[in-house]
Amino acid sequence: MIRLTLPALAEAERPFVTRLRIDPNADTDIRDSLLVNEEAAGASFSGARGLIAIDGATGRELDGDVILVQPAPGRVERLLRAGSRTNSLLVTERCDQLCVMCSQPPKKTHVDRFALLEQACLLAPPGMLIGISGGEPTLYKEQLFDMVERVLAARDDLAFHILTNAQHFTVEDAERLRSPLYARTSWGIPLYATDAGLHDRIVGKAGAFDRLERSLATLILAGARVELRTVLVSANLHELPALARYVAARLRFVEAWSIMQLEHIGFAKGRWHALHVDHRRDFAPIAAALDQASLHGIRAQLFNFPRCTVPPAYRSMAIASISDWKRKYMPGCAACREQGQCSGFFEWHPDADAEASVTPL
Ligand code: SF4
Repeated sequence: MIRLTLPALAEAERPFVTRLRIDPNADTDIRDSLLVNEEAAGASFSGARGLIAIDGATGRELDGDVILVQPAPGRVERLLRAGSRTNSLLVTERCDQLCVMCSQPPKKTHVDRFALLEQACLLAPPGMLIGISGGEPTLYKEQLFDMVERVLAARDDLAFHILTNAQHFTVEDAERLRSPLYARTSWGIPLYATDAGLHDRIVGKAGAFDRLERSLATLILAGARVELRTVLVSANLHELPALARYVAARLRFVEAWSIMQLEHIGFAKGRWHALHVDHRRDFAPIAAALDQASLHGIRAQLFNFPRCTVPPAYRSMAIASISDWKRKYMPGCAACREQGQCSGFFEWHPDADAEASVTPL
């Protein structure tokens, strides 16, 4: 697993954002910190805010990364890694839903880091798609919109993908979201069933389905770009074909519909046997949903489904969805020709189960 937080010492007293560079002749910025020393244990950089000594990574591994230096706890967070195509910024750990399978259970407290995250975005490598996640980002909707708009106005090469439970959009937001800046923003929105009661039980919030429908209406009005996300649990497996019909009939505007296999972490870890669907044994409802989506021209995709566990007719929909820092492949994958297109497994997925699943293609 690639570590996103590394131990570090810094001369500065307050947190700050900087971009690390190893080539002094590169096109540098006043906010950059340049490599001054490298040893087996780590690398040291110097910039306008003083020295930073980072353990656990080489200068080359850190080159181009945008980091948040946190002097008090003695660490740096690699916010945007130059060598990765999957970078995501966590804007809050608060959430107003409590999904039965939540991979990152929410906290009650919020630490406002919007100003620092905005600085990080402005230093992002060219052309980066930046993910925004939580918790629930739209609990801080004004700060979120302000940050997105300022960054996209300053950097016409960047784009955002924002995960949201879509419980907080109002019709008044439609005009703002119609701004051409939001053509470079897409929203990843969970929808688990067409049965409002079932959706509400999965997300742990009464009335969530109705509120979600109102938000989707606002997003349609705004011409927003939406990716629907459906995590597969035992309660919604047999609802998938009905959900596909609902998406085809009412949400044809979405850019994609992602059906996602469960992560063995967070709440799902303790409820694994109650929630997890072994799609190798019962793929028929998933296949029916994918067929329905395809029939209506909706781009359906499978996230977190190792390709060799998916029937050949649907394998092309199983994409490499797991971020590089939390993805693993098993020894048996070494001989597979499709590893480059495969999600593999989450680092925290039990090895014995993963190893037993793989059949090199
Ligand atoms: S063998 Fe490994 S890399 Fe190949 S499809 Fe299966 S899980 Fe993916």
